[in-house]
Amino acid sequence: MKVGDVPAVPEWLAGHLREDGIEELYPPQAAAVERGVTEGESLVASIPTASGKTLIAELAMLASVARGGTALYIVPLRALASEKQREFEQFEAYGLTVGVSTGNYESDGDWLATCDIVVATSEKVDSLVRNGAGWLDDLACVVADEVHLVDDAHRGPTLEVTLAKLRQLNPSLQTVALSATIGNAAEIADWLDAELVDSDWRPIDLRTGVHYGQALHFDDGDTRELAVRSSERPTAAIARETLDEGGSTLVFVNSRRNAEAAAKRLAGVTGEALTPDEEERLETVAEEIREVSDTETSDDLAACVERGAAFHHAGLARDHRSLVEGAFRDRLIKLVSATPTLAAGVNTPSRRVVVRDWRRYDGTVGGMAPLSVLEVHQMFGRAGRPGLDPYGEALLLANSHDELDELFERYVWADPEAVRSKLAAEPALRTHVLATVASGFAGSREGVLEFLDRTLYAAQTTEPGRLEHVTDNVIDYLVVNDFLERTGDDLTATSLGHTVSRLYLDPMSAAEIVDGLRGASAPTAMGLYHLVCRTPDMYELYLRSGDREEYTMLAYERESEFLGAMPSEFEDGRFEEWLSALKTARMLEDWASEVDEERIAERYGVGPGDVRGKVDTAEWLLGAAERLAGELDMGVAPAVREARVRVQHGVKEELMDLAGVRGVGRKRARRLFDAGVETRADLRAAEKPVVLAALRGRRRTAETVLENAGREDVSMEGVTPDPDAAPAES
Ligand code: ADP
Repeated sequence: MKVGDVPAVPEWLAGHLREDGIEELYPPQAAAVERGVTEGESLVASIPTASGKTLIAELAMLASVARGGTALYIVPLRALASEKQREFEQFEAYGLTVGVSTGNYESDGDWLATCDIVVATSEKVDSLVRNGAGWLDDLACVVADEVHLVDDAHRGPTLEVTLAKLRQLNPSLQTVALSATIGNAAEIADWLDAELVDSDWRPIDLRTGVHYGQALHFDDGDTRELAVRSSERPTAAIARETLDEGGSTLVFVNSRRNAEAAAKRLAGVTGEALTPDEEERLETVAEEIREVSDTETSDDLAACVERGAAFHHAGLARDHRSLVEGAFRDRLIKLVSATPTLAAGVNTPSRRVVVRDWRRYDGTVGGMAPLSVLEVHQMFGRAGRPGLDPYGEALLLANSHDELDELFERYVWADPEAVRSKLAAEPALRTHVLATVASGFAGSREGVLEFLDRTLYAAQTTEPGRLEHVTDNVIDYLVVNDFLERTGDDLTATSLGHTVSRLYLDPMSAAEIVDGLRGASAPTAMGLYHLVCRTPDMYELYLRSGDREEYTMLAYERESEFLGAMPSEFEDGRFEEWLSALKTARMLEDWASEVDEERIAERYGVGPGDVRGKVDTAEWLLGAAERLAGELDMGVAPAVREARVRVQHGVKEELMDLAGVRGVGRKRARRLFDAGVETRADLRAAEKPVVLAALRGRRRTAETVLENAGREDVSMEGVTPDPDAAPAES
């Protein structure tokens, strides 16, 4: 089907696509159009990675916007929201408006009502529904990206419930669900009353196989020799061979540490193959990487990049990730070693993909567990850049002949699994049942069950009583903890319940926080950090071997600060959790005491991205605690506020005011303070040479900071830094 033949889309689209080199729809795209995706039909598209799912979504959204509606695109990860936003912004040239909504759970996002296309995570959409965002009633089209993630125990239930709610709000809503190839796409289509395109077509040939010994064994029975030098590992040999052919390699490993180690090792291979021009351009990228943050990870990454290799994992800062992805797409970086996060969504095709580790640590089994076929096929799917490579090649690595056979059986020839709803778990239902009642989707036990009947779980379950049983437990919990009120058959949310639902807290977190705050009179920051770290909304740091002793000691030393009773050492599981929370809380305390980010990362064995992640979560939870304290008229709200502001900016109490000025931040605030500029008001009155010196002579920065502090005359022209106020070199 030619792009000009697609019905119901805006007239300009065909020309726009042609400009991008797209003349003709890919067969699955054409099938989607034939099933009516541009005419308001709901559709499930289950097609391989990199086979053009995004365009299907775009066709559906543009057609519904052309009919006067709003379209919503739900992404599974925040990191993908900005990528999709950038992609859709190409339509702004034709008068469309694109908005993205990810952070700040508690807001109704009124401004989004003016957008034609909104990009948001499922958590954010769920929260918009809870906050009664009116524009959601007028939604014409919703796209769920990576819908196979309903299978994910952690995030799946939210996506599932959110889709059910949106469809209840507007029964004629068009639902377009995009999925990797899965075993039960027809079942998903049934659940969503949608048409189905289920295809394994790919725009570029994919050969899959397994490396063993000196040979690559392919799915079509072919084998090819691979020259492995002595003392060389197979991945290095594969990368070298790919480089010789002018291609790039993407290596999937099972942990961040392994990703970093592999990149460092393989940089030896890529480094040999660079041209002087590439070296120069890579040097620039490395510089940009170093500028993002002043940490060991940043230095390590830059050092790899200078030699044409990089690692990529969720512990990296967002800017690091996008620099790496960009340079890899530009074929400047020749090899990336990544944890599986990269497979899900980020568009980084590569000539070759090596799935080096097919097992990874799984906390629920307490050991190594094999990856799913679905995951491995998604990684495979990143192989081959249409138009650039003759074909893509994806390989697993075997250490023995038996493993060679096993990998063929398990992954190469296997079909992907069916996805299964994970909704019937108590933590998922706890939050969703409360929200369902609080935002008016149900007003009784029967109503709740009726609502849940629209979920995938209900469509799939073979255990009819189970959902009902868990729902009853959850309702009891919510009533006992004062989030719901039961009168006869009726259920209503209490004022506390409404607040908790709008704050997007797990009710169990809210209960823990309320309990902790009730007993407190003058809580310390540590006490509050520990309290929020104990809630199920915070992922605690792991206790490593040797940690138990250290944190047990700390627990006794600071026992008086904790809010709520410390479990006894003999309650093994609970005590252990208390200590994990303590470790996490001490990390926050370090951060709020201006300890260097790099030192924190080192001390706790995490990446800088993780420090920020915990800080963000703590800020959000403390904000929620502040609201709950206010709501329940507890006198501790100011103490909570102080703990929150300190964690937000990563500063001691004395810097809270200064660090709140936009553009200042923890390091600059400290330098200003040490130079005698101690508050926002001081900034307005301070001698310019002093401010300039404290800001290391950066004129533009100084001007911005003064402006943000509300000063009128901000020009730094002709000002020289006062040498007495210059910060000591750290
Ligand atoms: P998916 O979302 O399925 O992983 P994408 O939508 O990211 O895949 O598409 C992969 C690439 O294919 C993109 O670079 C896109 O521009 C390109 N593409 C999509 N449809 C077509 C088409 N009909 N013709 C040529 N290229 C296309």
